[in-house]
Amino acid sequence: MNKLLENKVAVITGGSRGIGRVIAELFVSEGASVITLSREKVINDNSNIEHILLDVTNSEETEVIFNEIIKRYGDIDVLVNNAGITADSLTHKMSAKQWDDVIDTNLTGVFNLTKHVGPKMANQGKGSIINVSSVVALYGNIGQANYAASKGALISLGKTWAKEFAMKGANVRVNTIAPGYTLTDMLKTVPDELLKQFAEKTMLNRLADPIEIANVALFLASDLSSYVTGQVISVDGGMRL
Ligand code: NDP
Repeated sequence: MNKLLENKVAVITGGSRGIGRVIAELFVSEGASVITLSREKVINDNSNIEHILLDVTNSEETEVIFNEIIKRYGDIDVLVNNAGITADSLTHKMSAKQWDDVIDTNLTGVFNLTKHVGPKMANQGKGSIINVSSVVALYGNIGQANYAASKGALISLGKTWAKEFAMKGANVRVNTIAPGYTLTDMLKTVPDELLKQFAEKTMLNRLADPIEIANVALFLASDLSSYVTGQVISVDGGMRL
């Protein structure tokens, strides 16, 4: 049987660990050439994944890396905007730095890369862009005004880019995944009691494994979703915050 991403080139931001790493490994297993981009080296990396150091908040450096990837790989078929951080605080205690750090990484970082990749895909006539948002974007969450704002904006961006990059008839699709709470480093600082409460708010009574988010990213990256664009897909076990 043919692999789902045979001969495709996929770029994944924040693929050094967590959900991004699992997406990268899944895409490789489905035949893609995968490039991951993040600030830190990957520990014990013996995969076929090329990891390039990049802070997505740096727009000049992002353009340099984009040009390098194009020079070496030609087209980019799939972009997963996955890099993200949290810096939680109630709004009245939130510092300007907490606000800026989260908006710069989760929102401006997505713009910095997609402003190059989207038009490139439009010129190629094909491509799939996947934004990784959050359940928090849909329901809000106490202590996460910065994060909710950044992730909510990804939903609007996804819908805007779905129109813009397909404007001239290109087969470019842009979709957004809204994961529920998923067991990665990001949850390390969340107390166990709170994680238990989050699990109880899902219909499936548990948190997500990163592969459950990656499987939906694979669907959106591949031709299995050839008529799906401008959508937000919740992958949250039926969670209501
Ligand atoms: P992790 O903290 O495990 O991984 C975050 C990734 O983002 C790392 O690879 C990190 O790499 C990268 N990253 C952070 N800042 C930057 C930056 N400035 N430039 C480049 N890369 C960066 O988090 P998850 O895997 O859990 O999260 C992945 C995505 O899923 C995020 O967007 C997150 O908001 C979203 N999400 C996660 C949920 C969860 O419960 N885990 C729930 C809903 C959404 P490095 O440190 O090497 O830069």
